[in-house]
Amino acid sequence: MQYQAILNQIENELTKKQAKGKVASYIPELAKISPNKFAMHLHCINSGHYNIGNHQERFSIQSISKVFALTLAMSITGDELFQRVDVEPSGDPFNSLVQLEYENGIPRNPFINAGALVISDILISKLYNPKKEFLAFIHKITDNNSIEINSKVYESEKQYSYRNAALLNLMKSFGNIENKIEDVLDFYIYQCAIEMSCKELSTAFMIYANRGKKLANGDDVLSPQKVKRINAIMQTCGFYDEAGEFSFRVGLPGKSGVGGGIAAIHPEQYAVTVWSPPLNPKGNSELGMYALERLTSLTGLSIF
Ligand code: GLN
Repeated sequence: MQYQAILNQIENELTKKQAKGKVASYIPELAKISPNKFAMHLHCINSGHYNIGNHQERFSIQSISKVFALTLAMSITGDELFQRVDVEPSGDPFNSLVQLEYENGIPRNPFINAGALVISDILISKLYNPKKEFLAFIHKITDNNSIEINSKVYESEKQYSYRNAALLNLMKSFGNIENKIEDVLDFYIYQCAIEMSCKELSTAFMIYANRGKKLANGDDVLSPQKVKRINAIMQTCGFYDEAGEFSFRVGLPGKSGVGGGIAAIHPEQYAVTVWSPPLNPKGNSELGMYALERLTSLTGLSIF
């Protein structure tokens, strides 16, 4: 497959496209990012790396971190985790409160904010030093110890986390949060503030394309059965109330973040990451979705 030629064609098409969406501004620090940033990195199991744009520039991974948090939680707990968070698409925005009230504080899935907050609570209960161990997990799957949080983004979100605090309070009232609300909120915001480049995210997501093994050295991170489950949740819930649309247009399991990143995988083929900050009304990268749609269309390959 002529992957580099396909990426070049996507880049060429994108120069003629103007994003209509807006860069996230409810976390003030994210609003400072230029809407013109664009990068894409494709890491193929059999044929290596292809890229366009500034694929080594780091950006705020935001909700893409929810996949790593679930992975870490599933690697240290059993099926009891899914008694506290379900695996159904929500059909609602990522920060919505409505379903929680009539579903007794059990979030629909781990990739909306409510679900990720429960996962954060579980990790706090299980880990000795959650922040350090979470970052160490990302260092392990990327073989890159320089990945860090952006402390300005972290501080900025801490000042505007009323909705996430509301989600936590509601879930705590139903008995689904064990730890102190401020501790869970702090750890969750820390995870969202991690910065990675498209290249680094593609390396991290390789474990989901490669049946739970690191490509670099074949080390097992997660069992194939657990990877199957995480990929299934990415497919059905990775894009909030646009998960159906992403499946329809792109046809790969993936996860987005309000920093404008999207990471996706083709099982046993590749991991791919795109970054373009303007978001569509559902909070997903507008041009990122377009680029991935073109990738699966031009290659004629998706999981469907
Ligand atoms: N930190 C963001 C929040 O909690 C993450 C949301 C996202 O990327 N969709 O609102």
